[in-house]
Amino acid sequence: MCGIVGYIGEKQAYPILISGLKRLEYRGYDSAGVSIFNKKVKVFKKKGKVSDLDDFASKQDTAGTVGIGHTRWATHGEPNDLNAHPHESMNGHFILIHNGIIENYSKLKEKLIDRGYNFISETDTEVLANLIEYIYLKGKVSAEIAVRLALSKVIGAFGLAIICREEPDKLIAARRGSPLVIGVGDGEYFIASDATPIVEHTKSVIYLNDDDVAILSRDGLSLKTIKNDSLTPKVQIIDLDIGEIEKNGFDHFMMKEIFEQPKSILDTFRGRVSLDKMEIFLGGLYNVMPKLIEAKRIIIIGCGTSWHAGLVGEYLIEDLARIPVEVEYASEFRYRNPIITPDDIVIAISQSGETADTLAAIKLAKQAGATVLGICNVVGSSIPRETHAGVYTHAGPEIGVASTKAFTAQVTVLAMIAIVLGYERKVLSKKNYDELIKELHAIPTKIEKILKSNNNYLKVSKLYKDATNFLYLGRGYLFPVALEGALKLKEISYIHAEGYPAAEMKHGPIALIDEKMPVVVLAIKDKTYEKIVSNIQEVKARKGIVIAVVSEGDTIIKKLADHVLEIPETKDELCALLAVIPLQILSYHIAVLRNCNVDQPRNLAKSVTVE
Ligand code: GLU
Repeated sequence: MCGIVGYIGEKQAYPILISGLKRLEYRGYDSAGVSIFNKKVKVFKKKGKVSDLDDFASKQDTAGTVGIGHTRWATHGEPNDLNAHPHESMNGHFILIHNGIIENYSKLKEKLIDRGYNFISETDTEVLANLIEYIYLKGKVSAEIAVRLALSKVIGAFGLAIICREEPDKLIAARRGSPLVIGVGDGEYFIASDATPIVEHTKSVIYLNDDDVAILSRDGLSLKTIKNDSLTPKVQIIDLDIGEIEKNGFDHFMMKEIFEQPKSILDTFRGRVSLDKMEIFLGGLYNVMPKLIEAKRIIIIGCGTSWHAGLVGEYLIEDLARIPVEVEYASEFRYRNPIITPDDIVIAISQSGETADTLAAIKLAKQAGATVLGICNVVGSSIPRETHAGVYTHAGPEIGVASTKAFTAQVTVLAMIAIVLGYERKVLSKKNYDELIKELHAIPTKIEKILKSNNNYLKVSKLYKDATNFLYLGRGYLFPVALEGALKLKEISYIHAEGYPAAEMKHGPIALIDEKMPVVVLAIKDKTYEKIVSNIQEVKARKGIVIAVVSEGDTIIKKLADHVLEIPETKDELCALLAVIPLQILSYHIAVLRNCNVDQPRNLAKSVTVE
């Protein structure tokens, strides 16, 4: 959450900052602001989108070759112009932008008020600006020392970009818990929350680690820790193409990402699942494989959509490999005194690799001696660096706030893990192993087929766009998909939706069903088919509207349901990968028809770096 950009070099900073902020807008869109240095510091900030800021700032004098920019997801203080970043210290010596939360801000604020400081915003960030300034003036130290000393007093998470008025040829960046990447150009440097604003300027980047402080000038970069230990910067070349972060003709990133799934799933198993050799090889797990095979228990942690993927993972691993699995919300796991032993394997799932609660849960599991694996999409992010081993999903950048291709990529990775473990543990016969490998290969083509029915989904969406509630029902592998379908609808269309295991309907939700209630039933031909057909009858008996996702050619449900959305047949173990697609598209169309901002739904942001 919160996008940070910074530039120092010979070029005009403003256009670089604005286009960078547009790329990072998925991280927050409560307000946006920039600060540019050109003889004096100028600050422009506005409530709302980056385009609102640009409308306002582009009419002003934005000249200057050093600057910082921010797009906010508010934690402390409502979204308004005053709380927007950048924040200036009281006497104007420091201007900074911040991603994260300063947890001890109220104590620090009281102390600063006692020493004569006034505050004009409600943010925790302004406290940091004033603390740095107080140390700078009182200690008569350099900006860098003041920043490091101030950060040693701070509890919480921060990604920061800082300008000091007296040292205008420098930018200072620092991180703890919130991601920051430095782009290394020719006589120029970039700062950003992720590599997307940098990639059009340079492919050379340095990922900052927790407690790193980088001092950037046109002549060079120095990297040290908050405690003043010098570090050698490790420059890496990123493999990210500009086309991957454009909409490529789609109206929204979300639809582009839905339609990318045949390719993104292929990219997830490319080089890992071989039809020639008939084997699955997960290089990232090579060192931990013996431990995994012997595991007595696996705990999967995640948040939101990643947690849903984790639930599919539980079914897969228990079903195919017969290892007991528990799935936990990372935020609950870390605070509920969980029992973790050195024999446990913990699998942490996060698209961004930066999810604050998941990161904290990983640290807890590591302290307890568990082996921790990561399933993440963003290469070089914090979770892959914090875990013992892992598998990247390689789904490409996901920019739509509502996760789509990340979910199917995560499920693909979990399926690969479950199939390998099942085979190695001799639960799966060679025949079953080969069949699953073949079927995994067939999934992208089957998704392409589902995507061809887009118009049918649009028709159904038009009929129910004004519903106030939706129910999603599924059994077995499709129960987590029901949860995911309901979440997609909630987050982008603001329609209340609930996902349930179909059999649980009788224990409460059935009371909600009437002639106005659309019920999306996941009813493919798996081993619970007869039961789910009965559940559809129960909904119809109460006049509910049934939208059923069925296996191609199903004639029984066609007679019962109001609408059927067909998907190709597949193996039960992989059906989540297909059944989720119609639900993603349905929620997309409904949201567009309701004039909702699909890529930037209200109150949400991607990459949840606050707890
Ligand atoms: N805590 C800061 C604010 O509310 C930054 C928020 C964030 O990182 O999302 O302005």
